[in-house]
Amino acid sequence: MSRVLIVDDSRVTRRLLSSILKSDGYVVDEAENGLDALEKLSAVKTDLIIADLNMPNMDGMTFVRSVREAPYVRDIPIVMLTVSSDKGLRKEAMAAGTDVFMTKPINPARLLGTLKSLLKEKP
Ligand SMILES: [Mg+2]
Repeated sequence: MSRVLIVDDSRVTRRLLSSILKSDGYVVDEAENGLDALEKLSAVKTDLIIADLNMPNMDGMTFVRSVREAPYVRDIPIVMLTVSSDKGLRKEAMAAGTDVFMTKPINPARLLGTLKSLLKEKP
């Protein structure tokens, strides 16, 4: 069973994502920001990350860069989920190492389909 780390400062969003993923059989961990997420990644073997962009302490962009620079976790697929559809931000996120950039509101079927294909691509 695949294990997904949800990184979002909004408790409501974490709950929503968590229930969508659990309903599809995923094991879910949650983090409130990038720093919290890096700590969790060092403790738990994670298959995929869903990260928000705007968060206190460490934002999504910095978090993605940190993951891509870190041994052991650098190859974990990352979905960035944000309210902004700004093209510049999307570009920056992809350059930082984001695999898929998605905008809120969350479309459960689309999200689950995206996770499935990312996990299939994994070596
Ligand atoms: Mg946020």
